[in-house]
Order: sequence, then structure tokens, then C-alpha cells
Amino acid sequence: MKILLLSSPVVQRDFDRIARVPNLGLASLAAHVDDLCTVHVADIHGLKDHQEYVKKKVNGYDMVGLTAMSFQYQEALVLARIAKDAGAETVFGGYHPTLAAQEIGESRDAALIDYIVRGEGEATFRELVSSRLTGKSPKGILGLSYHEAEGSGKAKSNNADAARASKMVHNPDRPLLKVEEIEMPNRDARLITKGFYSFDVPIDCVETSRGCTQGCKFCSINLMYGRRFRRFSIERVIEDIRDAEAHGAGSIFFPDDNITLDPKRLERLCQAIIDAGLTHLRYKTQASASGIASSKTLVDKMGDAGFDGVFLGVESINKRNLEFLGKGKMSNDAEKAVQYLHDNNIIVSTGLIGGNPDDDEEDLWENFRLARKLKVDFPIFYISTPYPKTQMRAELEEMGLVTNSDFTRYDGLHANLKTLHLSEEEVQYITWQMNARYYDFEWFRYNKVKRLYPKWFANEVRRLAPFYARRKMDLALGRRTPKDFFREDLASGELCKGMT
Ligand code: SF4
Repeated sequence: MKILLLSSPVVQRDFDRIARVPNLGLASLAAHVDDLCTVHVADIHGLKDHQEYVKKKVNGYDMVGLTAMSFQYQEALVLARIAKDAGAETVFGGYHPTLAAQEIGESRDAALIDYIVRGEGEATFRELVSSRLTGKSPKGILGLSYHEAEGSGKAKSNNADAARASKMVHNPDRPLLKVEEIEMPNRDARLITKGFYSFDVPIDCVETSRGCTQGCKFCSINLMYGRRFRRFSIERVIEDIRDAEAHGAGSIFFPDDNITLDPKRLERLCQAIIDAGLTHLRYKTQASASGIASSKTLVDKMGDAGFDGVFLGVESINKRNLEFLGKGKMSNDAEKAVQYLHDNNIIVSTGLIGGNPDDDEEDLWENFRLARKLKVDFPIFYISTPYPKTQMRAELEEMGLVTNSDFTRYDGLHANLKTLHLSEEEVQYITWQMNARYYDFEWFRYNKVKRLYPKWFANEVRRLAPFYARRKMDLALGRRTPKDFFREDLASGELCKGMT
């Protein structure tokens, strides 16, 4: 049996310029079936023509796995069509298929999907592969959705009616694994090993924990994992870092859901990195502002270990919005957190969320002013997104504020709602202006990127300067207006590059 696991090719192009990271989840899945079959992972999200690649590659594989968040789901269906036309079975996993399994099973999409592996996938996927090898029914496989009439009724590429007739059944959820049961990722399964970077350094992912105990209303993490926080042993993490380095990484991204839930443990991990002589690598992670602000000693240790980039979940400084988002008090934490990080020469990116129910124009610009005041290196001005099944969606729907349910735009940068004071287009336009105006000469002076990654920075300036110059000229000559640029960027999906 041959299995091909595909990353989602749909990425936020603005972020892709800064970092393109290989998919760790698929390498982990591969590790759980590589003794049963031949398994390959194709990280296709950096390819010029990913559909052409899949068309050429997919022949000879018996099963193709696809993963998708909400905004990536439609393209996953396109790839599933290619896989099914080549005779392969298709398995979907990830956030969107997990949370929307019921709806997918009852929709026309089910014609393209043989199985959905819901939630944490490793054990479910292994049992599915075993059942396909032995011909056993998938009936008892926890966490699996499948077509009941196995064989005759399962999804067929060219017979949507037959597939619709065989509705998917959804086995009970699978309890979370113990971390000791999770194998080390199989990076040797990757077919595409070049083209992954953070700034200009080759990057890979290493996870140190899974899950989060917080209950932010917009987040899907606890819908996937429950409010649980599971820690991998420090020894495993160090071994995994070594493996990533052996596979070419010079930079490591820890994609943990909330790595600072246990600050003492993160401090111990940093010490272990130092003791293991791994400080020559560059580490990056995402973290909560309150976790980072909780300990200067921790952040100093992160600096010593080689951390040089942190994406900070600040979300907002507005108490009313923090309340709405399900966050605790945070405004003071953000300032302290950014200070601690900058003191250690760590590049700070922040997620700031606007478009909350009571937001007016001033409230949105408040996030901009905060980022400027804190001299954030890469602020990302997000728009509240009512992801399926989240508490936020339920509340916004109740208030009649959700304006769009086309999930291809559910990427955090597109407005899919209005507020009590602003239309969807106004939220989108103001947020675009914020992203567009931030990267000006003042930012040029204080950002840390130009010092830490001078070559990358110089290349970006060279690449973007003509574009910005053209826009400035068009504005000065009255040939075009900011709204023209806005519409152009909206159409291209690159919402952070404007400069007006
Ligand atoms: S702290 Fe982060 S991971 Fe945890 S629920 Fe909130 S947004 Fe999700």
C-alpha cells in the first residue's frame, strides 16, 4: 500500500514571504504508519503549480491524505478530485473537516471524501490503514467518519449520486493520546525538502506540547483537543531538534498552541537547549502576552537559548474586546512582554484583533497606535473571524453580524462580519489601511529585522521599493486612489502590502 499525504497549498501570501514552514503534523502521521506501508509527505505549499505536481505525482498511490483549515478546504476538494480520478482513496483531516464533519458528511463534498480522521490523527489514521490492509470494517475506529456501505457505497469520483446515497457515519471521538504514545516525526518521508525558510534561514518545526487550557471564544484549539495541555518530555524535544537540524534546519519553529502555559517548563527547555549545545540554531515560537510577561527570567533565558522571534497573541488592549474574545486582562502584559522580548533582541510579531461587535473606527486604530507605541516589528492587524462551531460564531450570528459564510475568506485578514458601527467593507478598508501604513520610515528605523536578517531585509527592500514607488507616484499624480489599491490588494489576497 502507498500513501501520499499533502499539505494545504493555500497560504497567506503576506506571511509566506517571511516564513514558509514544512508541515509537522503530516510527518507525525507518517511516523505512525511507516511500518505498515510506504508513506510520503508532499509539502506542496511552496510550489508554483501544486495541482500539476499532484496530477503527476499521485499515480500509483492507493490513498491520499489532505489537511485543511476552513479557508483551505475548497482547494483540498479540488486535490481530492485529482486523487480520486487517479484511483486513490481520500482521507481528510485537520481543523475544518474535524469540526464540520457532520455537515460535510451530508453534503455533496462527501462524494470526494472516503474518510475523515477527526481530531488528533495519529492513532485513528494508523487503525484506518491497518483496516484497509486487512480488509476489516472501519466500524470500531474511534475518531473516524466513513461511508457506511463500504465497497458499494463509498465515495466515487464520478458518481456523486451514489456517494450522496451513502451518508457518512461518524464513529465516537477518540480520547487524546498520552504523549509517550506519539512517535517522533518521520522527516525522511518528505518528498519536498527545499524552499522552507524563516527570513533566509532553512526552518523546520518541533512541537514541545499540545493543547491549551484557555477558552478564547474565537479559537478552535479546544474544540480539537479539549481544554488539555500535554507536555512532551524535554529529552524528546532535544532529540527532535537534533533530528530537524540533521535534516537541514538552521531555524526551529515551536508551533505549540500555548507554549507559555507552563513558563517554568519553557525555562527548563531553554536551559536544556543551552546544555545540549544547540544555541547556534535560531528559535521561534508563538506565545501569549501574559505568559511572556509573567517572567523576565524566562525571556532572558529564551534569549540565551537562541530565540530570535516570537509571535505574541496580544489580541486587543480594549477591555470590552478582551472580554468579548474570552481573554483575561492583558493590556499591561502586552507592554511588558514586548519590552522583555526586545531587551533580548527578539523580533516581535503581534496579533491584534479588530472588528469586534462594538468597534468603531477609533477602536480599530487603537490597535495601530498600540503597535506603534510598542515598536512591534511585525504587527498583524487581524479581523475577528467567526470560525465554524466556535462560541464567537454563535454570538455573532445571534447578533446578526456575520456577513459571509464563504469559508475561503476565513483567514483572519478578510472581513466576514460587520460591527454595530461599521459595515463589512469599512472594517476591511480600515484594517487594510492599518496594515498598509504601518511599514513606513518610522518602522524602517526601529524594526529589529534589518539588524538580525540584513540580507533578507535588503532583498525585500530591493524587491518592494519599485512597487511602493509606483504607488506613491500614482497617488501624487492623481492617477489612482487608495481605494483603488485597496481593491487591487483585496482581489489578489495580499492585504498587508499597501502603503498609501
Ligand atoms: S490562549 Fe491561544 S491557543 Fe489557547 S484558547 Fe486562547 S487563542 Fe486558543
